[in-house]
Amino acid sequence: MTRHPILAIALVAIAIHTSLARADSLGEAIADDYPYLESLFKHLHANPELSMQEFKTSDRLAKELQQLGFKVAREIGKTGLAATLHNGDGPMLLIRADMDGLPVQEKPGLDYASTQRQVNLEGKDMPVMHACGHDMHVTSLVGVARRMVELKDQWSGTLMLVGQPGEEALGGAKAMVTDGLYERVGHPDFALALHVIAKHPAGKIAFSDGLMYSSADTVRINVRTRATHGASPHRGHDPVVIGSQIVLALQNIVTREINPIEPALITVGAFNAGTAPNVITDLARLDITVRANSEATRAQLLKSIDRVATNTARAAGIPEDMLPEVIVSPDGAPTTTNDAELARRVRGAMERGMGADAFVDWHQTDMGAEDFPDMVNVTPPIPSVYFEVGGTAPEQLASGEWADHHSPLFRIEPEVSIKAGVEAMTLAALELLRKD
Ligand SMILES: [Zn+2]
Ligand SMILES: [Zn+2]
Repeated sequence: MTRHPILAIALVAIAIHTSLARADSLGEAIADDYPYLESLFKHLHANPELSMQEFKTSDRLAKELQQLGFKVAREIGKTGLAATLHNGDGPMLLIRADMDGLPVQEKPGLDYASTQRQVNLEGKDMPVMHACGHDMHVTSLVGVARRMVELKDQWSGTLMLVGQPGEEALGGAKAMVTDGLYERVGHPDFALALHVIAKHPAGKIAFSDGLMYSSADTVRINVRTRATHGASPHRGHDPVVIGSQIVLALQNIVTREINPIEPALITVGAFNAGTAPNVITDLARLDITVRANSEATRAQLLKSIDRVATNTARAAGIPEDMLPEVIVSPDGAPTTTNDAELARRVRGAMERGMGADAFVDWHQTDMGAEDFPDMVNVTPPIPSVYFEVGGTAPEQLASGEWADHHSPLFRIEPEVSIKAGVEAMTLAALELLRKD
Protein backbone atom coordinates (compact mmCIF):
# COMPACT_ATOMS: atom_id res chain seq x y z
CA MET A 1 0.00 0.00 0.00
CA THR A 2 1.29 3.43 -0.85
CA ARG A 3 0.40 6.31 1.35
CA HIS A 4 -0.53 9.76 0.21
CA PRO A 5 2.64 11.79 0.91
CA ILE A 6 0.80 14.76 2.46
CA LEU A 7 -1.20 12.46 4.70
CA ALA A 8 2.01 10.68 5.74
CA ILE A 9 3.66 14.00 6.63
CA ALA A 10 0.57 15.02 8.56
CA LEU A 11 0.59 11.73 10.50
CA VAL A 12 4.29 12.12 11.32
CA ALA A 13 3.63 15.68 12.45
CA ILE A 14 0.78 14.54 14.70
CA ALA A 15 2.98 11.75 16.13
CA ILE A 16 5.84 14.18 16.86
CA HIS A 17 3.43 16.69 18.32
CA THR A 18 1.82 14.06 20.60
CA SER A 19 5.17 12.83 21.91
CA LEU A 20 6.37 16.39 22.49
CA ALA A 21 3.15 17.35 24.22
CA ARG A 22 3.52 14.41 26.58
CA ALA A 23 7.17 15.09 27.33
CA ASP A 24 6.38 18.75 27.83
CA SER A 25 3.59 17.98 30.23
CA LEU A 26 5.93 15.93 32.44
CA GLY A 27 8.59 18.63 32.23
CA GLU A 28 5.99 21.29 33.01
CA ALA A 29 4.57 19.37 35.93
CA ILE A 30 8.09 19.02 37.39
CA ALA A 31 8.74 22.73 36.81
CA ASP A 32 5.45 23.58 38.61
CA ASP A 33 6.49 21.34 41.51
CA TYR A 34 10.06 22.67 41.66
CA PRO A 35 9.50 25.37 44.35
CA TYR A 36 8.34 22.60 46.70
CA LEU A 37 11.35 20.45 45.83
CA GLU A 38 13.75 23.37 46.15
CA SER A 39 12.66 24.15 49.69
CA LEU A 40 13.01 20.45 50.56
CA PHE A 41 16.49 20.38 48.99
CA LYS A 42 17.60 23.48 50.90
CA HIS A 43 16.27 22.05 54.14
CA LEU A 44 18.13 18.77 53.58
CA HIS A 45 21.32 20.56 52.54
CA ALA A 46 21.26 22.71 55.67
CA ASN A 47 20.57 19.69 57.91
CA PRO A 48 22.91 16.87 56.85
CA GLU A 49 23.55 13.82 59.02
CA LEU A 50 26.42 11.34 59.22
CA SER A 51 26.35 7.76 57.92
CA MET A 52 24.02 5.41 59.83
CA GLN A 53 22.74 8.37 61.86
CA GLU A 54 20.29 9.84 59.34
CA PHE A 55 17.45 10.03 61.87
CA LYS A 56 15.87 13.39 60.93
CA THR A 57 16.41 12.84 57.20
CA SER A 58 14.67 9.48 57.45
CA ASP A 59 11.79 11.04 59.45
CA ARG A 60 11.34 13.77 56.86
CA LEU A 61 11.45 11.36 53.92
CA ALA A 62 8.97 9.03 55.66
CA LYS A 63 6.60 11.96 56.25
CA GLU A 64 6.82 13.14 52.65
CA LEU A 65 6.02 9.66 51.30
CA GLN A 66 3.29 8.90 53.83
CA GLN A 67 1.50 12.10 52.85
CA LEU A 68 1.43 10.79 49.29
CA GLY A 69 -0.21 7.52 50.30
CA PHE A 70 2.87 5.28 50.47
CA LYS A 71 3.05 2.60 53.16
CA VAL A 72 6.34 3.23 54.93
CA ALA A 73 8.39 0.55 56.73
CA ARG A 74 10.95 2.16 59.05
CA GLU A 75 14.18 1.19 60.82
CA ILE A 76 15.38 -1.27 58.20
CA GLY A 77 19.16 -1.31 58.68
CA LYS A 78 18.90 1.26 61.50
CA THR A 79 17.70 4.47 59.77
CA GLY A 80 16.69 2.94 56.41
CA LEU A 81 13.14 3.02 55.12
CA ALA A 82 11.14 1.41 52.34
CA ALA A 83 7.93 3.02 51.10
CA THR A 84 5.58 1.04 48.87
CA LEU A 85 2.68 2.03 46.69
CA HIS A 86 0.60 -0.74 45.12
CA ASN A 87 -1.13 0.31 41.97
CA GLY A 88 -2.62 -2.80 40.42
CA ASP A 89 -0.99 -5.86 38.92
CA GLY A 90 2.49 -5.74 37.51
CA PRO A 91 6.15 -5.81 38.44
CA MET A 92 7.74 -4.27 41.48
CA LEU A 93 10.28 -1.48 40.92
CA LEU A 94 12.75 -0.35 43.57
CA ILE A 95 14.17 3.18 43.41
CA ARG A 96 16.92 3.92 45.89
CA ALA A 97 18.22 7.21 47.31
CA ASP A 98 21.12 7.32 49.76
CA MET A 99 20.65 9.81 52.57
CA ASP A 100 23.97 10.39 54.36
CA GLY A 101 26.25 13.42 54.52
CA LEU A 102 29.99 13.51 55.27
CA PRO A 103 32.21 14.71 58.16
CA VAL A 104 33.28 17.80 56.20
CA GLN A 105 33.07 21.45 57.31
CA GLU A 106 31.18 23.29 54.58
CA LYS A 107 32.85 26.51 53.39
CA PRO A 108 30.38 29.38 53.71
CA GLY A 109 28.83 30.95 50.62
CA LEU A 110 25.41 29.42 50.10
CA ASP A 111 22.51 30.89 52.07
CA TYR A 112 21.54 27.30 52.92
CA ALA A 113 25.07 26.10 53.76
CA SER A 114 25.33 23.61 56.61
CA THR A 115 26.65 24.65 60.01
CA GLN A 116 25.59 21.34 61.57
CA ARG A 117 27.71 19.14 63.80
CA GLN A 118 27.02 15.61 64.96
CA VAL A 119 28.71 13.12 67.29
CA ASN A 120 29.91 10.25 65.10
CA LEU A 121 29.69 6.54 65.88
CA GLU A 122 33.14 6.71 67.56
CA GLY A 123 31.90 9.47 69.88
CA LYS A 124 33.74 12.35 68.16
CA ASP A 125 31.98 15.67 67.50
CA MET A 126 32.19 16.32 63.75
CA PRO A 127 31.09 18.93 61.24
CA VAL A 128 28.57 17.54 58.74
CA MET A 129 27.99 18.49 55.13
CA HIS A 130 26.12 17.09 52.14
CA ALA A 131 29.39 17.09 50.21
CA CYS A 132 28.38 14.28 47.86
CA GLY A 133 24.91 15.43 46.78
CA HIS A 134 22.80 12.83 48.58
CA ASP A 135 20.45 15.71 49.47
CA MET A 136 19.70 15.90 45.71
CA HIS A 137 19.00 12.16 45.70
CA VAL A 138 16.45 12.33 48.52
CA THR A 139 14.82 15.40 46.93
CA SER A 140 14.61 13.66 43.55
CA LEU A 141 13.10 10.56 45.15
CA VAL A 142 10.33 12.73 46.62
CA GLY A 143 9.92 14.48 43.26
CA VAL A 144 9.52 11.12 41.50
CA ALA A 145 7.04 9.94 44.15
CA ARG A 146 4.93 13.06 43.61
CA ARG A 147 4.87 12.55 39.83
CA MET A 148 4.16 8.81 40.04
CA VAL A 149 1.18 9.43 42.32
CA GLU A 150 -0.08 12.08 39.90
CA LEU A 151 0.37 9.73 36.94
CA LYS A 152 -1.15 6.65 38.58
CA ASP A 153 -3.38 5.98 35.57
CA GLN A 154 -0.28 5.58 33.38
CA TRP A 155 1.34 2.67 35.20
CA SER A 156 0.54 -0.57 36.92
CA GLY A 157 2.53 -2.49 39.52
CA THR A 158 4.26 -1.69 42.79
CA LEU A 159 6.65 1.15 43.41
CA MET A 160 9.14 0.69 46.25
CA LEU A 161 11.10 3.79 47.28
CA VAL A 162 14.11 3.18 49.49
CA GLY A 163 15.86 5.72 51.70
CA GLN A 164 19.23 4.10 52.33
CA PRO A 165 21.59 4.98 55.17
CA GLY A 166 25.38 4.81 55.26
CA GLU A 167 26.45 4.77 51.60
CA GLU A 168 29.64 6.70 52.32
CA ALA A 169 30.76 4.03 54.77
CA LEU A 170 29.78 1.33 52.22
CA GLY A 171 27.68 -0.65 54.68
CA GLY A 172 24.18 0.81 54.48
CA ALA A 173 22.80 -1.21 51.57
CA LYS A 174 24.04 -4.45 53.11
CA ALA A 175 22.60 -3.40 56.48
CA MET A 176 19.14 -2.98 54.92
CA VAL A 177 19.27 -6.30 53.08
CA THR A 178 20.49 -8.28 56.10
CA ASP A 179 17.83 -6.59 58.22
CA GLY A 180 15.16 -8.17 56.01
CA LEU A 181 14.35 -5.41 53.52
CA TYR A 182 12.96 -7.86 50.94
CA GLU A 183 11.28 -10.16 53.43
CA ARG A 184 9.43 -7.15 54.82
CA VAL A 185 8.34 -5.39 51.64
CA GLY A 186 8.75 -7.92 48.83
CA HIS A 187 11.39 -8.81 46.25
CA PRO A 188 11.59 -6.26 43.41
CA ASP A 189 11.83 -7.16 39.71
CA PHE A 190 14.00 -4.15 38.83
CA ALA A 191 15.97 -1.48 40.65
CA LEU A 192 17.09 2.04 39.75
CA ALA A 193 19.36 4.59 41.41
CA LEU A 194 20.95 7.88 40.44
CA HIS A 195 23.86 10.03 41.56
CA VAL A 196 24.37 13.73 40.89
CA ILE A 197 27.89 14.07 39.49
CA ALA A 198 29.91 17.28 39.52
CA LYS A 199 32.05 16.51 36.46
CA HIS A 200 29.07 16.48 34.06
CA PRO A 201 27.15 19.58 32.88
CA ALA A 202 24.11 20.22 35.09
CA GLY A 203 21.09 18.18 34.09
CA LYS A 204 22.87 15.91 31.58
CA ILE A 205 22.33 12.17 31.99
CA ALA A 206 25.22 9.69 31.70
CA PHE A 207 25.41 5.93 32.09
CA SER A 208 26.76 2.79 30.46
CA ASP A 209 25.17 -0.50 29.47
CA GLY A 210 27.58 -2.35 31.75
CA LEU A 211 30.23 -1.45 34.31
CA MET A 212 29.67 1.84 36.15
CA TYR A 213 31.91 1.70 39.22
CA SER A 214 34.74 -0.38 40.66
CA SER A 215 34.62 -2.70 43.61
CA ALA A 216 36.02 -1.32 46.86
CA ASP A 217 37.50 -3.13 49.84
CA THR A 218 39.21 -1.88 52.96
CA VAL A 219 42.11 -3.89 54.33
CA ARG A 220 43.95 -3.35 57.60
CA ILE A 221 47.38 -4.86 58.17
CA ASN A 222 48.69 -4.99 61.74
CA VAL A 223 52.45 -5.59 61.72
CA ARG A 224 53.31 -6.81 65.22
CA THR A 225 56.86 -7.13 66.55
CA ARG A 226 58.83 -7.25 69.79
CA ALA A 227 59.57 -3.65 70.79
CA THR A 228 63.09 -2.58 71.61
CA HIS A 229 65.29 0.49 72.24
CA GLY A 230 65.87 2.71 69.22
CA ALA A 231 69.62 2.14 69.68
CA SER A 232 69.30 -1.68 69.86
CA PRO A 233 67.39 -2.74 66.75
CA HIS A 234 69.05 -6.16 66.84
CA ARG A 235 67.14 -7.04 70.03
CA GLY A 236 63.70 -6.89 68.38
CA HIS A 237 62.04 -6.25 65.03
CA ASP A 238 61.14 -2.86 63.60
CA PRO A 239 57.51 -2.66 62.40
CA VAL A 240 58.17 0.71 60.73
CA VAL A 241 60.77 -0.85 58.42
CA ILE A 242 58.71 -4.01 57.82
CA GLY A 243 55.56 -1.93 57.26
CA SER A 244 57.46 0.26 54.77
CA GLN A 245 58.67 -2.83 52.91
CA ILE A 246 55.09 -4.07 52.76
CA VAL A 247 53.91 -0.71 51.33
CA LEU A 248 56.52 -0.95 48.56
CA ALA A 249 55.99 -4.66 47.92
CA LEU A 250 52.24 -4.05 47.53
CA GLN A 251 52.99 -1.78 44.54
CA ASN A 252 54.35 -4.79 42.68
CA ILE A 253 50.99 -6.57 42.85
CA VAL A 254 49.34 -4.06 40.52
CA THR A 255 52.34 -3.54 38.22
CA ARG A 256 53.73 -7.11 38.09
CA GLU A 257 50.98 -9.58 38.96
CA ILE A 258 47.79 -8.18 37.45
CA ASN A 259 47.27 -8.25 33.70
CA PRO A 260 48.31 -4.72 32.59
CA ILE A 261 45.10 -4.20 30.62
CA GLU A 262 43.00 -4.95 33.71
CA PRO A 263 42.36 -1.94 36.02
CA ALA A 264 43.43 -2.49 39.63
CA LEU A 265 44.38 -0.21 42.49
CA ILE A 266 45.96 -0.50 45.93
CA THR A 267 46.29 2.70 47.96
CA VAL A 268 47.82 2.66 51.43
CA GLY A 269 45.93 5.64 52.77
CA ALA A 270 47.12 5.48 56.37
CA PHE A 271 50.32 4.25 58.02
CA ASN A 272 50.45 4.65 61.79
CA ALA A 273 53.31 3.59 64.04
CA GLY A 274 55.55 4.73 66.82
CA THR A 275 55.67 7.25 69.64
CA ALA A 276 59.24 8.55 69.90
CA PRO A 277 62.46 8.72 67.88
CA ASN A 278 64.38 6.44 70.23
CA VAL A 279 61.72 3.74 70.63
CA ILE A 280 61.25 0.85 68.21
CA THR A 281 57.56 0.24 68.67
CA ASP A 282 55.67 -3.06 68.54
CA LEU A 283 52.91 -2.19 66.05
CA ALA A 284 52.55 -0.60 62.62
CA ARG A 285 49.07 -0.29 61.21
CA LEU A 286 48.37 0.04 57.48
CA ASP A 287 44.91 0.99 56.19
CA ILE A 288 44.41 0.24 52.54
CA THR A 289 41.73 0.72 49.91
CA VAL A 290 41.60 -1.88 47.13
CA ARG A 291 39.70 -1.33 43.86
CA ALA A 292 39.03 -3.54 40.86
CA ASN A 293 36.72 -3.77 37.86
CA SER A 294 36.06 -7.49 38.10
CA GLU A 295 35.45 -10.03 40.82
CA ALA A 296 38.42 -12.13 39.61
CA THR A 297 40.85 -9.21 39.95
CA ARG A 298 39.28 -8.23 43.25
CA ALA A 299 39.88 -11.72 44.66
CA GLN A 300 43.42 -11.85 43.26
CA LEU A 301 44.34 -8.48 44.83
CA LEU A 302 43.04 -9.48 48.26
CA LYS A 303 44.83 -12.83 48.15
CA SER A 304 48.10 -11.23 47.03
CA ILE A 305 47.98 -8.55 49.74
CA ASP A 306 47.76 -11.30 52.36
CA ARG A 307 50.66 -13.21 50.80
CA VAL A 308 52.89 -10.13 50.46
CA ALA A 309 52.27 -8.93 54.01
CA THR A 310 52.81 -12.35 55.56
CA ASN A 311 55.94 -13.22 53.61
CA THR A 312 57.56 -9.79 53.91
CA ALA A 313 57.28 -10.20 57.67
CA ARG A 314 58.63 -13.76 57.42
CA ALA A 315 61.61 -12.53 55.39
CA ALA A 316 62.32 -10.00 58.15
CA GLY A 317 62.48 -12.82 60.69
CA ILE A 318 59.11 -12.37 62.40
CA PRO A 319 58.23 -15.67 64.11
CA GLU A 320 55.29 -17.70 62.75
CA ASP A 321 53.07 -16.91 65.74
CA MET A 322 53.52 -13.13 65.25
CA LEU A 323 52.93 -12.81 61.49
CA PRO A 324 50.84 -9.73 60.47
CA GLU A 325 47.06 -9.79 60.79
CA VAL A 326 45.49 -9.00 57.43
CA ILE A 327 41.87 -8.03 58.00
CA VAL A 328 39.48 -7.46 55.09
CA SER A 329 36.47 -5.36 56.17
CA PRO A 330 33.10 -7.07 55.61
CA ASP A 331 31.78 -3.72 54.32
CA GLY A 332 33.43 -4.01 50.90
CA ALA A 333 31.35 -3.38 47.77
CA PRO A 334 31.37 -5.31 44.50
CA THR A 335 31.39 -3.55 41.13
CA THR A 336 28.30 -1.55 40.15
CA THR A 337 27.21 -3.05 36.84
CA ASN A 338 24.12 -2.12 34.84
CA ASP A 339 21.97 -4.82 33.29
CA ALA A 340 22.60 -4.30 29.55
CA GLU A 341 19.07 -4.95 28.33
CA LEU A 342 17.45 -2.90 31.08
CA ALA A 343 19.90 -0.04 30.51
CA ARG A 344 18.93 0.11 26.82
CA ARG A 345 15.24 0.09 27.73
CA VAL A 346 15.65 2.85 30.30
CA ARG A 347 17.78 4.93 27.93
CA GLY A 348 15.14 4.57 25.21
CA ALA A 349 12.43 5.85 27.55
CA MET A 350 14.54 8.79 28.70
CA GLU A 351 15.49 9.64 25.14
CA ARG A 352 11.87 9.61 23.94
CA GLY A 353 10.89 11.90 26.81
CA MET A 354 13.90 14.22 27.06
CA GLY A 355 15.53 14.00 23.62
CA ALA A 356 18.99 12.79 22.57
CA ASP A 357 20.52 16.07 23.82
CA ALA A 358 19.73 15.06 27.37
CA PHE A 359 22.76 12.72 27.45
CA VAL A 360 26.51 13.06 27.64
CA ASP A 361 28.91 10.18 26.99
CA TRP A 362 29.81 8.09 29.96
CA HIS A 363 33.23 6.59 30.56
CA GLN A 364 35.02 5.52 33.69
CA THR A 365 37.42 8.27 34.83
CA ASP A 366 38.50 6.88 38.19
CA MET A 367 37.95 3.88 40.44
CA GLY A 368 35.10 5.24 42.53
CA ALA A 369 32.67 2.76 44.10
CA GLU A 370 29.09 2.49 45.36
CA ASP A 371 27.31 0.15 47.73
CA PHE A 372 24.15 -0.03 45.57
CA PRO A 373 25.27 -3.47 44.20
CA ASP A 374 24.83 -4.86 47.72
CA MET A 375 21.15 -4.02 47.36
CA VAL A 376 20.74 -5.83 44.03
CA ASN A 377 23.31 -8.68 44.09
CA VAL A 378 20.91 -10.82 46.11
CA THR A 379 19.13 -14.13 45.47
CA PRO A 380 17.52 -13.96 42.99
CA PRO A 381 19.57 -11.01 41.62
CA ILE A 382 17.67 -7.81 40.78
CA PRO A 383 18.46 -6.38 37.30
CA SER A 384 19.34 -2.74 37.85
CA VAL A 385 20.36 0.52 36.23
CA TYR A 386 22.42 3.22 37.90
CA PHE A 387 22.71 6.56 36.15
CA GLU A 388 24.45 9.87 36.72
CA VAL A 389 22.94 13.35 36.52
CA GLY A 390 25.30 16.28 35.89
CA GLY A 391 25.44 18.88 38.65
CA THR A 392 27.76 21.72 37.56
CA ALA A 393 26.99 24.71 35.33
CA PRO A 394 28.71 24.21 31.92
CA GLU A 395 30.52 27.58 32.12
CA GLN A 396 31.93 26.60 35.51
CA LEU A 397 33.10 23.26 34.11
CA ALA A 398 34.74 25.10 31.21
CA SER A 399 36.57 27.48 33.56
CA GLY A 400 37.82 24.59 35.69
CA GLU A 401 36.54 26.42 38.80
CA TRP A 402 34.47 23.66 40.30
CA ALA A 403 34.87 21.49 43.37
CA ASP A 404 34.71 17.72 43.28
CA HIS A 405 32.64 15.50 45.55
CA HIS A 406 33.65 15.38 49.25
CA SER A 407 35.25 18.86 48.99
CA PRO A 408 34.14 21.56 51.50
CA LEU A 409 33.37 23.67 48.41
CA PHE A 410 31.20 21.02 46.70
CA ARG A 411 27.96 22.45 45.40
CA ILE A 412 25.51 21.55 42.68
CA GLU A 413 23.13 23.55 40.54
CA PRO A 414 19.99 22.33 42.29
CA GLU A 415 17.30 23.46 39.85
CA VAL A 416 18.65 21.97 36.63
CA SER A 417 19.93 18.77 38.21
CA ILE A 418 16.85 18.05 40.35
CA LYS A 419 14.46 18.68 37.45
CA ALA A 420 16.49 16.39 35.18
CA GLY A 421 16.87 13.74 37.89
CA VAL A 422 13.13 13.68 38.56
CA GLU A 423 12.25 13.63 34.86
CA ALA A 424 14.75 10.91 33.89
CA MET A 425 13.81 8.71 36.84
CA THR A 426 10.06 9.20 36.31
CA LEU A 427 10.40 8.31 32.61
CA ALA A 428 12.37 5.18 33.56
CA ALA A 429 9.80 4.20 36.19
CA LEU A 430 6.85 4.74 33.83
CA GLU A 431 8.60 2.56 31.25
CA LEU A 432 9.35 -0.30 33.66
CA LEU A 433 5.85 -0.20 35.16
CA ARG A 434 3.99 0.59 31.95
CA LYS A 435 0.59 -0.93 31.34
CA ASP A 436 0.73 -3.48 28.55
ZN1 LIG B 1 30.47 10.28 48.32
ZN1 LIG C 1 27.73 9.84 46.89
